[in-house]
Amino acid sequence: LLDADGTARPTIFAEMSALAAATGAINLGQGFPDVDGPASVARAAADAVAAGANQYPPGPGIPELRRAIGAHQARHYGLHPDPDTEVLVTAGATEALAATVLALVGPGDEVLTLEPFYDAYAAVIALAGATHTTAPLRATPAGFRLDTEALAAAFTDRTRLVLLNTPHNPTGAVLTLDELAVVARLATAHDAVVVTDEVYEHLTLAGPDGVRPRHVPIATLSEMADRTLTISSAGKTLSFTGWKIGWVTGPAALVTAVRTVKQFLTYVSGAPFQPAVAFALGDDDVAAWVEALADSLAARRDLLCDGLRAAGFAVVPPQGTYFVLADAAPLGYDDGAALCRDLPRLCGVVGVPVRAFTRPGSATDDALRSWVRFTFVKREDVLAEAVMRLAA
Ligand code: PMP
Ligand code: GLN
Repeated sequence: LLDADGTARPTIFAEMSALAAATGAINLGQGFPDVDGPASVARAAADAVAAGANQYPPGPGIPELRRAIGAHQARHYGLHPDPDTEVLVTAGATEALAATVLALVGPGDEVLTLEPFYDAYAAVIALAGATHTTAPLRATPAGFRLDTEALAAAFTDRTRLVLLNTPHNPTGAVLTLDELAVVARLATAHDAVVVTDEVYEHLTLAGPDGVRPRHVPIATLSEMADRTLTISSAGKTLSFTGWKIGWVTGPAALVTAVRTVKQFLTYVSGAPFQPAVAFALGDDDVAAWVEALADSLAARRDLLCDGLRAAGFAVVPPQGTYFVLADAAPLGYDDGAALCRDLPRLCGVVGVPVRAFTRPGSATDDALRSWVRFTFVKREDVLAEAVMRLAA
């Protein structure tokens, strides 16, 4: 969390967005859409403000939203969390992650994540005083894939939590049923709790065969619901990343532990956004809008991947999320961070070095040293301009 000289470091996203603002570059760093979500959902929030939903909502979230989250899990995955005891509304997935890790681990415990990993994971594991261990995702012709042998070797008798993420930021991997089955078997054998961050659950992207990979929640695997906490949020699904409505679902005892911490982190949040998200999760037109978003993201992924390849990067096309990883080694850069510092000046584009998502000194840190993450959740004209600049 600190630089070598002890000063607090901004997150890589804040740093790169500031660089884009200062240089006027196109910001393909921080992942947020440049077009808002459905107008009907925005109107529902405005209506809620007008109707007086402006004071503290109930601690676990309004009943209407908890019911809508349960119904969403039932409709998409056949899971049936009890809205009263097995669903907790949080201030985005970020708070759900922090409250979960703080609730379940402390000094002496190990939390096993994939690597690379979303930057908040390392931070909240450190805040809990626990130890962070990792298992690598490796670049293959079939996208980034979990090294299951390394995963097995990373488990110890201190592994309390396995913190998964699928679809995966930053690699864009969508974990397969086979990969998840290995995780499930190992977590069960070591009696570890599985926490799974599924904020991109609806953003899976069709491959060259036109088929969208299926998002599989690990909670749906046999016997896994009892040891799994599933985290998601409205930010990515609905393109309202600033609303910060997230949730965690799972067995009552685990959700109660998370709620115990959550009540002292934020207590509650987002009163008028809660009914709006409840509306969105149950509305067929909004569901169609989300499907269309995934389709358009696949087209935008292709536009950016083609552009990056034409500019000389090696690219591993993602199966989900709105990020692509590109290797700058063919361009003569052995350090992605150096390229990210140079890119705004060279061509007016901002990306994020993949080493923001690795543990300093790890084998993955070394393997992905020359890689950069770019987002394609930008308007097509913006991406076309970025591609032209990269080519130049
Ligand atoms: N997990 C992952 C993998 C993410 O990419 C993000 C944010 N972009 C979050 C969690 C945080 O989600 P939220 O904005 O709902 O807190
Ligand atoms: N999750 C977004 C990303 O990966 C950014 C969220 C943030 O700024 N913390 O780009």
